[in-house]
Amino acid sequence: MSDLRLDATQLDRYSRHVIMDEIGPEGQQRLLEGSVLIVGAGGLGSPAIQYLAAAGVGRLGIVDDDVVERSNLQRQIVHGDADVGRPKVESAADYVDQLNPDIDVETHEARVTAETVGSLVAEYDVVLDASDNFATRYLLNDHCVLTETPLFHGAIYRFEGQITSFTNDRGGDGRSDTDGDETSPPCYRCVFPEAPEPGTVPDCATTGVLGVLPGTVGCIQATEVVKYLLGKGGLLEGRLLLYDAMDMSFEEVPVRPNPACPVCGDDPEIESVSDVAYEGTCEISAD
Ligand SMILES: [Zn+2]
Repeated sequence: MSDLRLDATQLDRYSRHVIMDEIGPEGQQRLLEGSVLIVGAGGLGSPAIQYLAAAGVGRLGIVDDDVVERSNLQRQIVHGDADVGRPKVESAADYVDQLNPDIDVETHEARVTAETVGSLVAEYDVVLDASDNFATRYLLNDHCVLTETPLFHGAIYRFEGQITSFTNDRGGDGRSDTDGDETSPPCYRCVFPEAPEPGTVPDCATTGVLGVLPGTVGCIQATEVVKYLLGKGGLLEGRLLLYDAMDMSFEEVPVRPNPACPVCGDDPEIESVSDVAYEGTCEISAD
């Protein structure tokens, strides 16, 4: 026990982790030393923040520029009725402080932009994309590919969700593949090279969303992050998990690296996030 750095309170708090061979005190220590940037403190971000904090992931960065609205409370469960009108990052940070004093919460009341993404992401081990718009999704993808930062994707639409994980491990930082596979991993643009035309995919405010749906999707994203930090298990890499809450069905679609991908392909057009205007279809800028 002499090499353990967990104190008595932590051994108690995380005892159901510590007793499992797959985690143990060493695994819990890895979680406590881990850091995650959660982009969005809404429907997906709420359960991700809650479970990552409860699990003892030691440093959580939360990015959001919105304030809590009453119409958020049907699904954004990190916020309460008394938080209406407060910045979401403050409300989320209060929740984490109350749940687990081990966690350092860093709030970023801002929108992630091509100018800020570099300095924000650099502070963390991994990024959990809990955003609700294509501009942020493509920006995070491109930046995380270019910097080989692991990115955990989730998205929801009415009664359906999708989840996948991108380690972005192309050998540049020496971090070994979780499965020993030598082929380059895919990215979001390998599957969806450009965002849909604006207005063709309505948002939650227009079409509605089943309140419990982001709970499931955000929890799966958090599960992937915990496994990644532990270095255990098989990730949803190369697999897009589709969840249909109405049918209560899960389906898996293979995701393959696309040699023509504009950011991770053989001859990528995107060499910097400044090459792209992150609006509309998020295609390469004309100049
Ligand atoms: Zn790609």
